[in-house]
Amino acid sequence: MKKYDTPLLDELEKGPFPSFVKEIKKAAAKNEMANDELGQLEYSFKTNRGYWKHGGIVGVLGYGGGVIGRYSDLPDMFPEVKFFHTVRINQPSGWFYTTKALRELMDLCDTYGSGITNMHGSTGDLVFLGARTEDLEPLFAELTSRGWDLGGSGSALRTPSCCVGPARCEWANYDTLEACYQITQEFQDELHRPAFNYKYKIKFAGCAVDCVASIARADCSVIGTWKGPILIDQDAVRWHEKKGMDINREVVDMCPTQCISYDGKELKINNDECNRCMHCITRLHKALKPSGERGATICIGSKAPIVVGSLLSWVIVPFMKMEPPYTEFKELTRKMWDWWDENSHPRERIGEVIEMKGMRSFLEAIGVPPFPQQIKEPRKDPFFFFTEGDIERFKKREEEEKKTGKFIF
Ligand code: SF4
Ligand code: SF4
Repeated sequence: MKKYDTPLLDELEKGPFPSFVKEIKKAAAKNEMANDELGQLEYSFKTNRGYWKHGGIVGVLGYGGGVIGRYSDLPDMFPEVKFFHTVRINQPSGWFYTTKALRELMDLCDTYGSGITNMHGSTGDLVFLGARTEDLEPLFAELTSRGWDLGGSGSALRTPSCCVGPARCEWANYDTLEACYQITQEFQDELHRPAFNYKYKIKFAGCAVDCVASIARADCSVIGTWKGPILIDQDAVRWHEKKGMDINREVVDMCPTQCISYDGKELKINNDECNRCMHCITRLHKALKPSGERGATICIGSKAPIVVGSLLSWVIVPFMKMEPPYTEFKELTRKMWDWWDENSHPRERIGEVIEMKGMRSFLEAIGVPPFPQQIKEPRKDPFFFFTEGDIERFKKREEEEKKTGKFIF
């Protein structure tokens, strides 16, 4: 095996942080692909250029996505990375693995790839970095025979992902793991056979802390919420203060709707004004907790900047029960896809199309009524859908005002 000198990469091994260079070197000691990957990376740093040609679909039989084609631009210098495809594997809900499952996956990665993984990619999948074209079918056969499946790529539903939710977290307002699993099963066709105009991501977060960053990174963000008041344990609030917390500065002043007050003895919340942002609950743990009916807020449209700038998701359904069999969510998703399909051009995300066509026509098409919570930003008007009858009434009122010279409320 050729030994590469890597003076520039060696610099990245210094310091207290874990280093990806160290990991590639470990893999390179026993894997030719990882070794050439190391050589090409050093050469990139030396010349200040990237040498990966990427993109395109390198499918396996019956699937349109899941493997992303990657090729070296310097195949003569680094022949082992001439083909270095990225294989996305559908992660388990909440990224829980047994050590047995991890060993099984790592063995497959060593056998059919470079031995380098990315856990996890930004979509959520477990990623094998670097596989040759001829190894893809055998790798796919091995994976599926052990119950694993490929994730989504290209213009398809991308692998849904979720936070750990009720498996480890007291703040989950619905079972994010179950929802993610069931929705993944329901939309297998959309996941594996790219038929959309562009990608579509769904992320499930159990509360507004949003550990999967769904509000910024999913076309559809499903964020847990509740309907009842926030329950307060006043002794626990005072315990936080005794421990040194400045409750007014760290909690009261930080409430986005300014609906909390604290006089040194008692914490009060005006629940009608609370927007369920979770800030006070996370700061005053054990002292505050949500109550009442639980479910999720459905938001639509976030994306990273490509064609138009980055977008955050926008509320469309303020409260939806998220319980099996998730019929309401599945039906809403299908309606949104139909509208997106009919109104978009290739490579337009659903959020961009809503920006262009307007939220009003989108909501009308998918049959969601206007709610005050659908405002895009604070202090902007929500949607009012006027009927023809309303317009007639406005005209009559206008005429009356002209006639009488008086303003009519
Ligand atoms: Fe817990 Fe909320 Fe984070 Fe999910 S998003 S893990 S429920 S804090
Ligand atoms: Fe204020 Fe957010 Fe707490 Fe509601 S959840 S009271 S909006 S800090």
